[in-house]
Amino acid sequence: MARPLKSNTRSLILTGMATTAAISLLDPDALGATRRLPPAGRLRRVGRIDVIEVEAKSILNRVAGMPFAWSVNPYRGCIHGCVFCYARRSHGYLEDDGVGRWSSRLYAKVNAAAVLRAELAKRTWRRETVSIGTVTDPYQPIESRYRLTRAILETLRDAETPVRIVTRSPLIVRDLDILRDLAQRAGAHVSVSIATMDAALAREIEPTVAPPLRRLQAVRALAGAGIDVSVALAPILPQITDAPEQIESVIAAAHEAGARHVWHGALHLHDVTRDAFFQFLRKTRPHLIARYAQLYRGKYAPRAVRDEIDARVTRARAALPKQRVAQIAPRGDAQLSLLL
Ligand code: SF4
Repeated sequence: MARPLKSNTRSLILTGMATTAAISLLDPDALGATRRLPPAGRLRRVGRIDVIEVEAKSILNRVAGMPFAWSVNPYRGCIHGCVFCYARRSHGYLEDDGVGRWSSRLYAKVNAAAVLRAELAKRTWRRETVSIGTVTDPYQPIESRYRLTRAILETLRDAETPVRIVTRSPLIVRDLDILRDLAQRAGAHVSVSIATMDAALAREIEPTVAPPLRRLQAVRALAGAGIDVSVALAPILPQITDAPEQIESVIAAAHEAGARHVWHGALHLHDVTRDAFFQFLRKTRPHLIARYAQLYRGKYAPRAVRDEIDARVTRARAALPKQRVAQIAPRGDAQLSLLL
């Protein structure tokens, strides 16, 4: 049951200090974000944020070409306001402003768990993997009030359906109990996004996300509980977060914290994400505008730039010793996995 927000609650913004987003590495088009008019709902004003509570008619979205078959998004919009967020485009699908309103107008699907429970009860449900939060962060600060992600996890656990979660938020540790159950009954994978270990730089590019060290603590807690956890080193921003020592520091920290794997991806710029990112450059790094305009004539950086980033990641991984840790297997016992 979603707990309603109290109007004018400042702690909503403050709890935003603890938060996630690799999901936004993915293309909203491929993840079930459909173009439609903004849904009607009840508006709650919380500090500088508008939260629109809506009733979803359906919640499971079919996904193609991904390592999961379905996605669920309890929210639209994200208070974290990452300058590189690819999911901003999904606000455009609601004829909303993906640059200026992405982090200040949020949609909360308050009946998400009830709708999901009905969809999973259908005889046609095959218990395929469901990814939570593909076009938003499912553990952004309003989750501490609405608890929609937790209710969705409980529903998936009861239906013995495997789950994947991508987040930048340490708030996920709150749900360790359910994640352990899910890991034993069906399978659970968590990916925590860390783009840089430099706290000041992180604050610039992911304004209200918890500092990198707090996210690493979440990785450590998840790994310690036997959850299959990886770190998303993403997106890597050319000439901002792509120096070899920057990449090495994230990979070494992920390894030390017990992440089983590190995956990465170079920045791509498209649609409103391009507008938001160049707005960021104009404010903070005007000297890089010409370089980025040259690199991003299209959606992706040139192949040579991406290859060099791949090579740096490969070298950083290769420098680390392999290690084995216990991890919960879906049948309920523990198994050993080779890390990184
Ligand atoms: S945390 Fe939120 S704003 Fe940041 S990339 Fe993820 S969805 Fe986008």
